[in-house]
Amino acid sequence: MSYTIEGATGIWEIVCGLEVHAQVISRSKLFSGAATDFGSAPNTQVSFVDAAFPGMLPVLNEECVAQAVRTGLGLNAQINLTSRFDRKNYFYADLPSGYQISQFAHPIVGRGEVEIELADGSTRQIGVTRLHLEQDAGKSLHDQDPARSFIDFNRCGVALMEIVSEPDIRTPEEAGAYLRKLRTVLRYLGTCDGNMDEGSMRADVNVSVRHAGEAFRTRCEVKNVNSIRFVMLAIEAEARRQVEVWESGGEVVQETRLFDPARQATRSMRSKEDAHDYRYFPDPDLLPLVLDQGWVEGLRAGLPELPDAKRARFVRDYKLPAYDAGVLVAEQSTADFFETVARGRDARLAANWITGDFFAALNRTGRTIETSPVPAGDLGALLDLLGDGTINGRIAKEVFEAMVETGAAPGEIVERRGLRQVTDTGAIDAAVDAVLAANPDKLAEYRGGKDKLFGFFVGQVMKAMEGKGNPGLVNEALRGRLAS
Ligand code: ADP
Ligand code: MG
Repeated sequence: MSYTIEGATGIWEIVCGLEVHAQVISRSKLFSGAATDFGSAPNTQVSFVDAAFPGMLPVLNEECVAQAVRTGLGLNAQINLTSRFDRKNYFYADLPSGYQISQFAHPIVGRGEVEIELADGSTRQIGVTRLHLEQDAGKSLHDQDPARSFIDFNRCGVALMEIVSEPDIRTPEEAGAYLRKLRTVLRYLGTCDGNMDEGSMRADVNVSVRHAGEAFRTRCEVKNVNSIRFVMLAIEAEARRQVEVWESGGEVVQETRLFDPARQATRSMRSKEDAHDYRYFPDPDLLPLVLDQGWVEGLRAGLPELPDAKRARFVRDYKLPAYDAGVLVAEQSTADFFETVARGRDARLAANWITGDFFAALNRTGRTIETSPVPAGDLGALLDLLGDGTINGRIAKEVFEAMVETGAAPGEIVERRGLRQVTDTGAIDAAVDAVLAANPDKLAEYRGGKDKLFGFFVGQVMKAMEGKGNPGLVNEALRGRLAS
């Protein structure tokens, strides 16, 4: 899908690359044994290493390394068997050591790629430049006291993966699709919970604009955007600003900017002139990180089926349209739910119910698949009642709503409320006769050529039968009576 900005000097194209910070799921921090639980009381999860007490030594957490490698494998990326930790030096109140341990020249993961799907059904590959491990900083709290700021070091030292994309993104939609896909992959892998509300995934957005075919122009970086929607809005706002700068004869200068969602505009935070010189150097407390190929292969063998593979399997084995399969694999729990319902049943029908009535019910009740009032087994049982003719399609919707409301099993609801489909032709004929007798004027119009009234009669008979008539038999009976 093309997205361009029309300016006075012609058509502009957006160029965008994303740097995503993803918090690693691990019980303890990257270089200390302190816990990583979110939402704990301030400064209750801080070791001497995190607080940078003199003489404390970092000890690399193997699980964090494994998580980074799993993520690299999940992004079809090159795993670098030798990588190195560097100190990135800067002063900030929430960084007690005065440096962040990161990976600069030798990251643990090299080139990979992410396949994105767009609304028009097309797919694109977005290149991943690298993934490296680094420590998170603490958090300054400015809203606790009118006169003072506080610092919470709980987050200090928590492992982050910085995942840098190539400048391959061309539209806000592609950026959104990239982030959603990345989040899905991280969640499948269990390496990051992808929760942008809690800050466990955040993005720096690099944007430039150019006329098609030109070399890349100067970019600006919009820092720390914390929702996918805001990333998309920030790209659009920043690109429009740059087009205006270029077209008014100015020049875009490389700088760091912030996105203000209220104004839907970016503003300057610091220019390249005050850019930090981080004075990176290898951390003398840490040896180069050398991985064993066999260990990496063990992690590869332990990877779950990932969303692209699962989607292809759903299309192939369940004969689902690619779009529906994509919706079902977006969350692993949804995919599992679908497979439980579909097993031994009409898979397309299962998919339609899940993406239709079931998702609507979750939305309406504010539930998730984990807290769904209707378990997969019950939805499957409902499809069985539909499949074997115990109930008709209309009643199935009614039973489903009752399942959502009461949590009861479908069989129980059908029996308790007497919703079995009526297939007794005697009862259907009687209902047909009663409806025709009660509507002599409509009957005359029908016989006079107003064919459309057939639907009216079907509706009336179904109504008389409280929706429980077998639709095929009702149609057949009506046709027979109206023909005679
Ligand atoms: P830095 O380390 O200074 O942030 P990088 O070269 O690592 O710079 O690039 C950071 C991000 O900026 C990457 O995601 C990359 O894709 C993106 N990027 C690089 N050049 C451009 C450009 N001209 N326009 C938009 N994005 C760009
Ligand atoms: Mg950067």
